[in-house]
Amino acid sequence: MMLTIENLTVSYGLHRALGGVSLTVSPGEIVVMLGANGAGKSSLLRAVAGICEGDTSGRIDLSGKDLLSRKPDEIVEAGIAFVPEGRGIFGDLSVWENLMLGAYSQRARAAKQDNLAAVLELFPKLAERKTQIARTMSGGEQQMVAIGRAMMSNPEILMLDEPSLGLSPLLSKELFGNLSKIRATGMGVLLVEQNAKQSLAIADRGYLIENGEITGENAAQAMLNDPAVQAAYLGGGAQTEHTQKERTNV
Ligand code: ATP
Repeated sequence: MMLTIENLTVSYGLHRALGGVSLTVSPGEIVVMLGANGAGKSSLLRAVAGICEGDTSGRIDLSGKDLLSRKPDEIVEAGIAFVPEGRGIFGDLSVWENLMLGAYSQRARAAKQDNLAAVLELFPKLAERKTQIARTMSGGEQQMVAIGRAMMSNPEILMLDEPSLGLSPLLSKELFGNLSKIRATGMGVLLVEQNAKQSLAIADRGYLIENGEITGENAAQAMLNDPAVQAAYLGGGAQTEHTQKERTNV
């Protein structure tokens, strides 16, 4: 099922954080959204997940179903799962309890055993650690619990807000490898990342977001090779006004 976002706006009082953003995520594709702090990336994911504190307008469509302003549990039921920044797991519960809570929705119940098998194949460590209390796990392990819990809701689209934050380079690499495996199951993945290099390396497409507007869209490989993207997001040198302007043509 395809996720189509059209002209989405988010305002917090008088402050407009998103000024009419349009993007798509197809099944079996990883889409990464890059942007500076405060650009509006989290607002976008939170609006789609139905947990944005601001006022929203526009269209959020999952294969013909309009999801704008629906309740978070209805959005999970429709097939969108969200791993928020900071992971959003229940620290005082065990790994197993966290996974089972992920399967609470109606759509997830019938497929619970299959989804569990898929999660444990992806993260065998979670089977070994199933009685461990989540907050006692390492950052990388907690990220596995968070993604596993989201997968237990049997989603069509998986959204993640900066999943590599706080992970070592090695664990980040493992995380992005796992996202590739998730894509191979046919799920669509929408990713917000600061780690532009590693995320573009596994993504299919990317969007640039600046001050609440999409300023560029391209195939991930083309973005990796784009001098303006390199300058702004890949540590390729000082950002000049010239490169700023060019980014609008990515
Ligand atoms: P970061 O990478 O730093 O998380 P971001 O691109 O995800 O940034 P958002 O968190 O979406 O950006 O924030 C966009 C703008 O909206 C910022 O100016 C932020 O201060 C503002 N904002 C976000 N959440 C709220 C809120 N609950 N109330 C008021 N303003 C908010």
